[in-house]
Amino acid sequence: MASNWSLCGICNSRQMTKSSVVWCSECDEGLCGDCKEHHSISKGTKNHETVSIAEYKKLPTEVLQIAQVCKLHNEKYELFCRKHDCPCCKKCVKSHNDCKALIDINEIIKNVKTSNAYYEIEQTLLEVVENIKRLNTNRKENLKSLKDKKREIEAEIKQTRTKINHHLDKLQEDLIKELMAVEQKECRKIEKLLTALKNKEKDICEIQENIASIKQHASELQTFLTMKDIEKDIAVGEKFMQSITTSDTTNQVNISCQINKFLPQITASVQIFGEIDVSSDPCDFTIQKRKDRQAQIMVDVPTRNIDNLTLTLQKRINTRLSNVQGCSMLPGGRMCLPLLLIYVIIT
Ligand SMILES: [Zn+2]
Ligand SMILES: [Zn+2]
Ligand SMILES: [Zn+2]
Ligand SMILES: [Zn+2]
Repeated sequence: MASNWSLCGICNSRQMTKSSVVWCSECDEGLCGDCKEHHSISKGTKNHETVSIAEYKKLPTEVLQIAQVCKLHNEKYELFCRKHDCPCCKKCVKSHNDCKALIDINEIIKNVKTSNAYYEIEQTLLEVVENIKRLNTNRKENLKSLKDKKREIEAEIKQTRTKINHHLDKLQEDLIKELMAVEQKECRKIEKLLTALKNKEKDICEIQENIASIKQHASELQTFLTMKDIEKDIAVGEKFMQSITTSDTTNQVNISCQINKFLPQITASVQIFGEIDVSSDPCDFTIQKRKDRQAQIMVDVPTRNIDNLTLTLQKRINTRLSNVQGCSMLPGGRMCLPLLLIYVIIT
């Protein structure tokens, strides 16, 4: 944990409480106005870069909380072990006896803000954001296409139904028209016969009236001669009756209707209107990934061997873990020390 940045570190160590106005990252402490003056002219600290507390406060909490000294020995980091990918203080070095690639930490942190590794992180973050945006757009498009498709299918279902309705309406109308026509035709035939019978009945009535009148008022000769004519009329009438009974005009006419057997079957054989299918195809969306990012980060760390260090092996620790991951540079130029590695060192 970094020192309390709101108080002057120097005054604090002299049991005085004064608010800090600037922050010195190298001293890892805040400075009050007086101490800042001293800090800027003193031989050991005049080259230290400071930032105003107002500016320093703007840094993310994670950065403010990061320890800039070794957590185990409370000493400044001096080296960086490339093998274990971690910063080391002078005392840490003992646990890195076997490590050849120990580099002066100042070599690594120099120009870290303009390094490829930092640039890569920035680009990768941009890329992740871009991927999220693209995926977001892609999924939203899918939402819209589902809604559109739903509307389309609904319209198709209704249209199919309307077509069937119209078709059945038409068939029903045709059949009723046919029924009307057939009934009218048959009725007309019977009515025609009825008219003929009525006329014949009228003729016979006339003859009956004539016969009665002849009987009363005509002479014997007149009666005889008229009888011959009447006999002829009766013969015609009998012939007419004969022709009627032998023709089919007196047949009992019926009409009936056989409903198409497929129609009642519809309710039994058609049990569903259709089926809704869900299919899911892999879309052409691909996550864009920067190539060889890790490789570039590693290449960025300068290689320099430290010759004047004598390392003594203190303890060899077998973690029994096969998948020990390295760590990477995070924004702000700080190194992330993997928990596993910390655990190993403590052990
Ligand atoms: Zn002070
Ligand atoms: Zn300083
Ligand atoms: Zn240490
Ligand atoms: Zn090491």
